[in-house]
Amino acid sequence: MVLADLGGSITRALKQMSNATIIDEKVLNECLNEITRALLQSDVQFKLVRDMQTNIKKIVNLDDLAAGHNKRRIIQQAVFNELCNILDPGKPAFTPKKGKASVVMFVGLQGSGKTTTCTKYAFYHQKKGWKPALVCADTFRAGAFDQLKQNATKAKIPFYGSYMESDPVKIAVEGVERFKKENCDLIIVDTSGRHKQEAALFEEMRQVSEATKPDLVIFVMDSSIGQAAFDQAQAFKQSVAVGAVIITKMDGHAKGGGALSAVAATKSPVIFIGTGEHMDEFEVFDVKPFVSRLLG
Ligand code: GDP
Repeated sequence: MVLADLGGSITRALKQMSNATIIDEKVLNECLNEITRALLQSDVQFKLVRDMQTNIKKIVNLDDLAAGHNKRRIIQQAVFNELCNILDPGKPAFTPKKGKASVVMFVGLQGSGKTTTCTKYAFYHQKKGWKPALVCADTFRAGAFDQLKQNATKAKIPFYGSYMESDPVKIAVEGVERFKKENCDLIIVDTSGRHKQEAALFEEMRQVSEATKPDLVIFVMDSSIGQAAFDQAQAFKQSVAVGAVIITKMDGHAKGGGALSAVAATKSPVIFIGTGEHMDEFEVFDVKPFVSRLLG
């Protein structure tokens, strides 16, 4: 279910409820079940939805609803707040400071949009006057370095990588050292992604992380991953200190639910979303406008 559909379904459920003559527990439950169904179809994890339903029932006072007015508003507000709560892990992500060298490592499955997102992230900061640089520590996928090189060249961002070296840790360390010397203030390390959450991928990630000591690890997740989002995000979090999430491919058939699951699993906020293949199709993520849009 795409974002707009989710908003529509929730609005319909609320409308049906406020059309009812008497609001009793049965009507409220029906409305919440409808909302639950809509959220599940949008790939929000089952447990999150269940907890949310329980919380809303605790917050919403049936007597207030029975009193007549603003039934829709009361529930809509409760749903809004709950979704915001899920998306807000309670602590902000580490924010790099302009002029002070920070190392940011990107992790995620192959095809999630990691390499594209590294460049978008660099480009976004470059436009704001930063001096970013890209390091390709993906020696697993043939063509990874070429892709990063191509993107970086297009955006005029310095890059580092090797066609010969097969040790990602060595490349990552060399790249970070070089760009620190060159006074870059945002050193972005792109790591290898695999099709599946293989042990080898996680071990490699751990080693690159240990060697480069990133200030921030960003987990990149494809929004079309569906109900697998929670487990995938959690697996990454268990291996490296994920501190922020970027959700890609929010254009097209984007589902909103994965974002909620990724935050819940990593206890880290979403900081940006990818909204297209181009370098500038990248937006700062803001919880409230996102949820407003989600609810239509
Ligand atoms: P990686 O294997 O994780 O490094 O993934 P890539 O960066 O190579 O991206 C995989 C594919 O997804 C490429 O065709 C990208 O152009 C595409 N892609 C990445 N981000 C987005 C996005 O936000 N929207 C859309 N529509 N496509 C994206």
